[in-house]
Amino acid sequence: MNGIDWPNLSFGYMKTDYNVRSYYKDGKWSTPTETTSENIDIHMAATCLHYGQEAFEGLKAFKGKDGKIRIFRMRDNALRMQASCRGIMMAELPVEVFEETVTKAVKLNERFVPPYESGASLYIRPLLIGTSAQVGVKPANEYLFLVFVTPVGPYFKEGFKPTPVAILRGFDRAAPLGTGTIKIGGNYAASLTAGHIAHEKGYSAVLYLDAKEKKYLDECGPANFFGIKNNTYITPLSSSILPSITNNSLMQLAEDMGIKVERRQVAEDELATFEEAGQVGTAAVISPILRVDDIDENKSYIISKDGNAGPISTKLYNKLRGIQLGDEPDTHNWVTILE
Ligand SMILES: *Cc1c(COP(=O)(O)O)cnc(C)c1O
Repeated sequence: MNGIDWPNLSFGYMKTDYNVRSYYKDGKWSTPTETTSENIDIHMAATCLHYGQEAFEGLKAFKGKDGKIRIFRMRDNALRMQASCRGIMMAELPVEVFEETVTKAVKLNERFVPPYESGASLYIRPLLIGTSAQVGVKPANEYLFLVFVTPVGPYFKEGFKPTPVAILRGFDRAAPLGTGTIKIGGNYAASLTAGHIAHEKGYSAVLYLDAKEKKYLDECGPANFFGIKNNTYITPLSSSILPSITNNSLMQLAEDMGIKVERRQVAEDELATFEEAGQVGTAAVISPILRVDDIDENKSYIISKDGNAGPISTKLYNKLRGIQLGDEPDTHNWVTILE
């Protein structure tokens, strides 16, 4: 009816009917209002353009077998966006305004929520920017919060297949006491060059080492890293990693399944001992890792011996997807079902 080829959607932007906006002025956020315009009109001296006052979020909505729409961990995304606001001195968006705007954007674009069978989902992109003019380095006093949505295809078209990642010692994503723990565009700009080099060499992402000692594993591109060994889920602890909501969910599910969970420093050498490893984030849930190449040191760590995803990664992936789609009970109250 829509003319959308659901099974062949890519992870890209598709125009939908509406986006929803709330403006911050004189200390107050306006009632979220929809628009059909894909453009924003801001002052050329807006702080988002010059001084990087920009934060974003990424979450998804799914259609279940029952036809109901489920949004995954919306409140946690709202809280994380508040942390990002505090991190770069932007007006903090109330959780209720975040939830109201997201919900409204999904409902108004209901016809773009992919059907259950397609394996596709509706990607939700909240964005918060400083809009008032400032030439001196100071935070803005006016802000725009905007939510748009776009249907995205299943991440694994060819199945849940492991890919290789690279350690590039000449690059850092974020400093130990910098902005790595908040979700801002600046961190992405800082990672574009390394990401591009890795992709050119055939890797799916850069596995960053800690910026100070170049010894411990940090973030894996725009995703968190985990490794599995001896029935234990191990994920790096660091002051420059973004707290992934997917990783947080997987740690909880692992614990529920009787798998031990460790959040601690992980030295690069330990890669040699992992039976499974993966990148985690909203886009793919888990993207299994085939191999890690430390290019400058000429070292290679084979993670997947047979080229397939390991049993624990597969079990965790299926469980989380099941909760998102409503096929598995939502025992941790992660899902908001739209009325
Ligand atoms: C968004 C993001 C993630 C993944 O977070 P999720 O909440 O799981 O989507 C991981 N690392 C970085 C740097 C991110 O920006």
